[in-house]
Amino acid sequence: MRVVAVSVEQLVLDLDPPFHANWDPEPRRTFPATVVRVTCDEGLTGIGGGDTLHGVQPHVHHLLGSDPLAMERQVRVLESIDFHGPRPWPIEAALWDLVGKATGRPVATLLGGMTDRLPAYASTGAAKSAADQADVAVHVRDRGFGAIKLRVDAHDRVAALAEVTAVREAVGSDLEVMVDLNQAWRMPGDTAGSIDLVTARRFADALAELDVHWLEEPLPARDLAGLAQLRSDARVRIAGGELSRTMDDVLAALDADAYDVHQPDVVLAGGLWRGRTLGELIVRRGRRYSPHTWTDGLGLLANLHVAAAVGGGPFLEFPYDPHGWTPDRRDFPLAAPVEIDAQGDLVVGDRPGLGIVLDEDRVAATRVGGWSARLDQGTVVYEEGP
Ligand SMILES: [Mg+2]
Repeated sequence: MRVVAVSVEQLVLDLDPPFHANWDPEPRRTFPATVVRVTCDEGLTGIGGGDTLHGVQPHVHHLLGSDPLAMERQVRVLESIDFHGPRPWPIEAALWDLVGKATGRPVATLLGGMTDRLPAYASTGAAKSAADQADVAVHVRDRGFGAIKLRVDAHDRVAALAEVTAVREAVGSDLEVMVDLNQAWRMPGDTAGSIDLVTARRFADALAELDVHWLEEPLPARDLAGLAQLRSDARVRIAGGELSRTMDDVLAALDADAYDVHQPDVVLAGGLWRGRTLGELIVRRGRRYSPHTWTDGLGLLANLHVAAAVGGGPFLEFPYDPHGWTPDRRDFPLAAPVEIDAQGDLVVGDRPGLGIVLDEDRVAATRVGGWSARLDQGTVVYEEGP
């Protein structure tokens, strides 16, 4: 089997009304998504997505003519591309989808098959009043979730604690509650600094009194010593690492014992093959592996398959907020949005590969650009345009 073509389609969904994520300096009026397709000489096509792939095109010829089953070789090529700028991991997701289709197996089965389901947590995004946080928590509980993640303002901890308290009073022990401070990275234009270790420790103590399941990104990701100290001191789990760049970043955090819950996203940080290895190491050391999935349905599915393969969890992120972030928006390139089942679980399912089914009409209607590279009698042919 040989890779004979790679294509990338850039899509944009208009958001009306806009969605204002708690970590964004300004509301989002559009939502971009990317669909990458890798086709082999036997006619199968694998599909991936979850990041933009801007800047990958000049390097993609290194994949053409190669064996899609030679995954360690593929990953080393992609790591060499990653070193030079763009995160190329949606291409690896497409390669895995192709391998799954070639073998008739879900990727989660090929990567270990520890479980076929993980309980989902509703990962909210918008800033809200305490009353609105409580209303959303009740809605999330009634919709069948077992857990919710709240976004609060790290620099207004009085308000943040009021919000978490209101949620706890509204749902009692019906939901596990996670709290994300988003202190580890910044959107373009956001120059705010992080809170410090002492402040984070006091906040963690207050959250422990509210039986919070984990506190996410309380400090910058580069402060591994501070995170490890906080993890050692705190009576609430410390989570982080979602925008790690490489396998080595995640290993450094694991060696430093910076987190109780490691969250590297397989379409943003090192890919599925490395993610599977990292997940195994994390679980082996008694820590938790719960990948970030806040991209789109294609990225969510890639992370679900890897987390299920190694027995990650116990919860997996399901981006969902009735205040502007619905599965329809999140998964707009898909024929049907990814949903939880009646038990509140995300389920791998029986489809070969990553289980991605595109709505090709929607893909065509939202396409704003793209490119392809293919082998034509040994020569690489590039084409631009949607
Ligand atoms: Mg986060």
